[in-house]
Amino acid sequence: MISIRNLSKQYGNLVVLKDVTIDINKGEIISVIGPSGTGKSTLLRCINLLEIPDDGQIFIDGIPLLSKRTNVPKIRQRMGMVFQSFNLYDHLNVLENLCLGPVKLLRKTKMQAEARAYELLQLVGLTEKAYSLPEELSGGQKQRVGIARCMSMDPEILLFDEPTSALDPTMVSEVLAVIRRLSREGMTMMIVTHEMEFARSISNRVLYMDEGSIYEEGPPEQIFEHPQRGKTKAFIHRIRSLDFHITSPSYDIYAIQAKISTFCEKHLVPPKVSHYTQLLAEEMLLLISDHSDVKISLSYSERDHSLRFVFDIAGSEMDLLKEEPGDEDIGLKLILAMCSRTEQTYQDNRNRLTLVIKSAGPGPEVRQ
Ligand code: ADP
Ligand code: MG
Repeated sequence: MISIRNLSKQYGNLVVLKDVTIDINKGEIISVIGPSGTGKSTLLRCINLLEIPDDGQIFIDGIPLLSKRTNVPKIRQRMGMVFQSFNLYDHLNVLENLCLGPVKLLRKTKMQAEARAYELLQLVGLTEKAYSLPEELSGGQKQRVGIARCMSMDPEILLFDEPTSALDPTMVSEVLAVIRRLSREGMTMMIVTHEMEFARSISNRVLYMDEGSIYEEGPPEQIFEHPQRGKTKAFIHRIRSLDFHITSPSYDIYAIQAKISTFCEKHLVPPKVSHYTQLLAEEMLLLISDHSDVKISLSYSERDHSLRFVFDIAGSEMDLLKEEPGDEDIGLKLILAMCSRTEQTYQDNRNRLTLVIKSAGPGPEVRQ
């Protein structure tokens, strides 16, 4: 359906896209992941001709987009682009936002446009908001209107540029649910996202971009479970784990907890589990007596949605978790209640404690 050949783009001396070649087939859902600044947005903007590539070709159903004779506005209507920042008209209500394009550009009658707008509002769950102004909506609702507005132009493909990254974490899932619904209806989509679990479950193909090129591409199982190339492996490892190194007793527990919270949000870990993970970090650090060299690593497995905490502590052998906690060991009891599995080893003068956090949170015996 869309064929991109050797696309290149430069801003001044900065090479942003290098020889990018992709084929997008009808009905495909392609996620684009990779570090920031590697040209993901530029790629989408070039496909949509918001930027003009310096070199290469883009074909839609065989029509060359970059040819002077091509009717660009008409072609562009076949592609909808959903931005991070919603881009709604603030002075128009939701219904008017959805009808403007179809009436002006698709020459639909007001009645036809409104009928379709109501269908789309139903699809995104916002029929009640038809007469609201954008300022009366939450971020998640605005983005759902943004998606409906794109759909109102009857596009053949939707391009999403980090559709949830401007949203409050509580609103991410409502927008992802709408995109998921469109995917089930067979919409062709290309999605730039940092939501890895989402990318993994929705796409049939994942492109990993690095420094302006498609460095690795494959089915989500390959990219997320068995990446083949070095940079992909490093990226996947990095986004899945969070590391701290504590070197003194004056560590900043609030900063650590804030990072855990952000990490959990990014991986769509339920707030309750995130909360217990933060509590666990605090209790574990209280239990450890020597803080001169403690390495902590939190990692998330998308396979079974488990969070694993590893504490690697320098010093002589300790028995932190094995003993039966007495009545006074409230901290330890709390820790054990929050874990589904614990393991303790000692090697090379380091104690290593591995804790797997209960995915449903601790049992009723734990009270705040
Ligand atoms: P990503 O979406 O992967 O984070 P972008 O496509 O936004 O990356 O940007 C890639 C690089 O191009 C960045 O270094 C960015 O600063 C630069 N860039 C993007 N747009 C412009 C522009 N209009 N002018 C100059 N440089 C730009
Ligand atoms: Mg971007």
